Amino acid sequence: MSATRSHHEFDVAIVGGGCAGAVAALSAARAGARVALIERMGYLGGTATSVLDSFYGFFTPGEPPFRVVGGIAQEIERSLVAEGHAFYRENAHGGGIGIGYDPEHLKDLFDDITEREGVQVYLHTELTGARTSAGRVERLSLIARGEPLELSAAGFVDASGDASLVRLAGGPVVNAARGGLKQAMTTTMRLANVDNELARSFPREHLAEYVRQARASGRYEVPHDDIHVRRSSTGGGAHALLTRIGGYDATDVLELSAAERAGRRQAREYLRFLQDQVPGYARAELVSYGVHIGVRDSRRAVGDYELTSDDVLNGRKFPDVIAQSGSPVEIQGSDDADWRYLSDERVYDIPLRSLIVSGFDNLLAAGRCLSADHEAQASARLMAQCMAMGEGAGAAAALSVSLGVSPRTLPLPELQDRLVRAGAILFDDQHVPFDITSAPRSPGEVDRGGGATGAENAV
Ligand SMILES: Cc1cc2nc3c(=O)[nH]c(=O)nc-3n(C[C@H](O)[C@H](O)[C@H](O)COP(=O)(O)OP(=O)(O)OC[C@H]3O[C@@H](n4cnc5c(N)ncnc54)[C@H](O)[C@@H]3O)c2cc1C
Repeated sequence: MSATRSHHEFDVAIVGGGCAGAVAALSAARAGARVALIERMGYLGGTATSVLDSFYGFFTPGEPPFRVVGGIAQEIERSLVAEGHAFYRENAHGGGIGIGYDPEHLKDLFDDITEREGVQVYLHTELTGARTSAGRVERLSLIARGEPLELSAAGFVDASGDASLVRLAGGPVVNAARGGLKQAMTTTMRLANVDNELARSFPREHLAEYVRQARASGRYEVPHDDIHVRRSSTGGGAHALLTRIGGYDATDVLELSAAERAGRRQAREYLRFLQDQVPGYARAELVSYGVHIGVRDSRRAVGDYELTSDDVLNGRKFPDVIAQSGSPVEIQGSDDADWRYLSDERVYDIPLRSLIVSGFDNLLAAGRCLSADHEAQASARLMAQCMAMGEGAGAAAALSVSLGVSPRTLPLPELQDRLVRAGAILFDDQHVPFDITSAPRSPGEVDRGGGATGAENAV
């Protein structure tokens, strides 16, 4: 389809090409829908490729770890691992086993698979408005390199992270900042010339103590002790999550602009501290900041059901399950992180009803803008869950369009059967233990031994 035409028509349109939206697009396309995927950046992956380097949420955090996310997310995991662009990180910080990946190869993979599955990807295209009628989204207004574009579809998925489609369609949203509950943002850095072996041998407790001493000396502005550096999938490379920028509203452009500046300043200062004070970083250099500051929460959709912290912590089951998680509630504040684990190592369900936007018959919200309370979102926002929700949302949107019904009245057994046949994990009897000792724990190496220690840890 030529992008010079001003009006384009699809079965399913997905706003936001982050890990949730990209997987939603693949899922809908595999279900036979004509799919448009709209992304304002020049590549897919969103936070996964702009800011980060490690998937969490694929496995429960206990011992033994159980796999709770399969399907398209697992296909992505397998492709990256098979090509040597990903490796497994030990459960060093209690978040469960992570999967470190090279974000540039993840961009390439999203390019290849969306093209292969026939998804029409609109990069450099921003959603600016939505026309609705009688509880249905009918048409999106987009702007692509200054050119206005109209796009209509029968079903829609908001995977914008900010619930921007729901907001522009006049639907119900909750703003994390306005409710007074929001997580800190983080500017990440890619580093080169790190002596990762030396850095990994340095115990984490010592690192926090060094930060405290540096702060007390008055020579470094390093306001919190809980910092994370993870060796990356390129030799001598590391990915640094050092900053906590609290108190800003990510949906207010002036506040977000101030947060970006504050994040870079804080990141530079922590890097200076690492270079001067911490073994392994004497020659470390900044390669790049994350493309933008990492936003953990902003707006969330209000759905038919709001997933709650009780649901998460008690491992609640729902008949309309479309994804699962065993990951703790992890609230990253301005000074430190608050981790709350599920009781008895349970696994909770993410139900379709928490993706169905209240008051709409053809609009779902998936990924970090699902309908959930502050604490529940702080568990369900992990990338494995975002991809699993995307797979569920894409399949549900495609099926409801093909049957001509609302996602609310979908035949659930048919939807769940399709998802399970595609490899998704929806039920506890599908869980299998994961043996990290026989998995690559370093790019290109199998069973390298040692595991993640020292300054390397989770989210
Ligand atoms: C600092 C930080 C550290 C984290 N650490 C980890 C970790 O180690 N492991 C882990 O699993 N999870 C981690 N998370 C959580 C996880 O990365 C995110 O919750 C997840 O990636 C969100 O995916 P998403 O697709 O829902 O949203 P996003 O990644 O935010 O994607 C939304 C996409 O929509 C696009 N978009 C938005 N508005 C528009 C519009 N109007 N028009 C067009 N496009 C639009 C954006 O450009 C973006 O590409 C972390 C998050 C942060 C911020």
